[in-house]
Amino acid sequence: ETIGQNLRRTVERWGEREALIVLSQGYRATWRQLWEETSRVARGLLALGVEKGDRVGLWSPNRFEWVVIQYAVARIGAILVNLNPAYKTAELEYALNQSGTRVLLLSRGFRQSNYQEMLAQVRPNCPELRVALVLEEDWASLCAGGEGVSEASLAEREDSLQFDDPINIQYTSGTTGFPKGATLSHHNVLNNGFFVGEALRLGPEDRVCVPVPFYHCFGMVMGNLACTSHGSTLVIPGEAFDPLAVMKAVMEERCTALYGVPTMFIAELDHPRLGEFDFSSLRTGIMAGSPCPIEVMKQVQSRLNMREVTICYGMTETSPVSTQSALDDPLDKRVTTVGRVHPHVEVKIIDPASGAVVPRGTPGELCTRGYSVMLGYWNNPEATRQALDAAGWMHTGDLATLDEDGYVKIVGRIKDMIIRGGENIYPREIEEFLHTHPAISEAQVIGVPSVKYGEEVMAWVKLKPGATAAPEDLTRFCTGRISTFKIPRYWKLVEEFPMTVTGKIQKFRMRESAVAELG
Ligand code: ATP
Ligand code: MG
Repeated sequence: ETIGQNLRRTVERWGEREALIVLSQGYRATWRQLWEETSRVARGLLALGVEKGDRVGLWSPNRFEWVVIQYAVARIGAILVNLNPAYKTAELEYALNQSGTRVLLLSRGFRQSNYQEMLAQVRPNCPELRVALVLEEDWASLCAGGEGVSEASLAEREDSLQFDDPINIQYTSGTTGFPKGATLSHHNVLNNGFFVGEALRLGPEDRVCVPVPFYHCFGMVMGNLACTSHGSTLVIPGEAFDPLAVMKAVMEERCTALYGVPTMFIAELDHPRLGEFDFSSLRTGIMAGSPCPIEVMKQVQSRLNMREVTICYGMTETSPVSTQSALDDPLDKRVTTVGRVHPHVEVKIIDPASGAVVPRGTPGELCTRGYSVMLGYWNNPEATRQALDAAGWMHTGDLATLDEDGYVKIVGRIKDMIIRGGENIYPREIEEFLHTHPAISEAQVIGVPSVKYGEEVMAWVKLKPGATAAPEDLTRFCTGRISTFKIPRYWKLVEEFPMTVTGKIQKFRMRESAVAELG
């Protein structure tokens, strides 16, 4: 099935129910209205001469137009290029060039106020870019342009599409370096969204609050596509993440599910006005994207009333989800693991050096295989060969363990593992421990170069509002509770961590800055 066929089926079954609510724009649409808006934009794009396989860039924060464009572009078989609203000029130019984007749809939204200047700078270097339209100004004329295109020509294009056509280039978050463009098909993302919704037992009565950005697969697949394939209502609080707006949206719209990366949930839990909100409608949700501290999971269950919260593990290259906890998993598995493998996906854990499968419980590199694995990195056969082996296994670069019951634990990224005097140290373990300190809101651990040991442990710590703790106190807290070699040698108290806009901590930037500081 293609994305367009799936959307059409939802319209046939649930057409008059609410599909999409965007609170910051006062936008509300039923599935039928969403379908009609999507048809107008699809014809508008056909009028611009967009061919099957052409790249259409979308550079916008979460707005209703994002969702409409996602479906319109899929219905005409073009390839949507998700562009991060936080891109600076060089990153924008790289993504536009690398993908060969021909039509760019952009918002003059909150992070893009200087878009005119940026476009003027990149255009001379992006010869393939022909059209750039601003959502806030050109929406009506885009739709009007499509009036000259018949329903029949749209239908003809839709009939020519195959479920395994590429329809999306998603750049990875850039957590470990420069983003790579994963090329995904209808089949990849649609099925993944479906299985995520199945795991949450979503249905037409569900209202899913999605504050994570759409340009990333967490929002686009686990949000939009999971809702579409289950007829659930998508509730978008606004363009920028704001914990207060999220809590209001959940209460006022009686949301049943809430999504977020751990830092978003932490911001909600730390918010001084948390107690004013009624979360009785919440039932489930997803925490994903980076390590989910056990303490945060527990608080989300008790203080946000998300009794059935699940954790997903995945990556852009696998559409994205590979494992997810199930609603009926025992509590300890639900907070300490990333669940079991999704239907129609395989996992194995190997010794990265030899490629051999390691015994159960032993950490090794997680590899995944199945329908969800990307077609490849766009225009980058070399990177594709490194990530995907001949047997179809995606080498994730993540260290994990698999227990007797099939639950996966993410130990950390291979690139983040610290080797101190020959001892392997997993930052994740120390971070989990530090989160049990009452004054600590968030902790991140990295390795920094050391002449004596090769690497030393350094912790960056953000304290809870109003809390105080000196490095000596923190060291004392660790003493006797974790092995001496794991106790951070260096501490740094911070207000913020270097982050991608998806809310992921960029440890490579932490290392760069630590190296500069320590000399
Ligand atoms: P880049 O590949 O550009 O460095 P990235 O890997 O962060 O960035 P994404 O594809 O958005 O880009 O993220 C996938 C990665 O996020 C996984 O490889 C894994 O390291 C991490 N991750 C995702 N979910 C979880 C989770 N539940 N627990 C721990 N880590 C997770
Ligand atoms: Mg990655």
